[in-house]
Amino acid sequence: MEQGCIFCDIVNGKTETKFLYEDDILAVFRDINPHAPVHLLIVPKKHIRSVNDLSGENKDIVSHMIMVGKDMALQENVNISGYKLLLNVEKGGGQVIFHIHLHLLGGWERK
Ligand code: AMP
Ligand code: ZN
Repeated sequence: MEQGCIFCDIVNGKTETKFLYEDDILAVFRDINPHAPVHLLIVPKKHIRSVNDLSGENKDIVSHMIMVGKDMALQENVNISGYKLLLNVEKGGGQVIFHIHLHLLGGWERK
């Protein structure tokens, strides 16, 4: 856990943020400033700054994030209509919270 990291605080249950899903590895919650009708954040409990800081020992975390993303798309009923799974990397890539997280964006249409 990194001092002063808002996502460390959230995934460790130190805020009022409601989880849509949680396990030992990660937590899922709604983005506070959604950019799509469905906008979830899939956030590991381990503090990793960005994709640049991933190493082989994080392989299981990353694959689990994607698998949970897929399950959450089904739960939010955007799996058939389609969605984006997005990782912003560092400032130029749009990252503003430097604790790795996967965005799930969708729900523009649910046909
Ligand atoms: P990124 O630009 O990839 O770093 O994305 C960070 C995201 O975190 C943004 O979409 C923010 O709206 C979202 N965010 C920031 N603070 C919170 C919070 N307390 N709860 C939920 N989402 C947040
Ligand atoms: Zn953190």
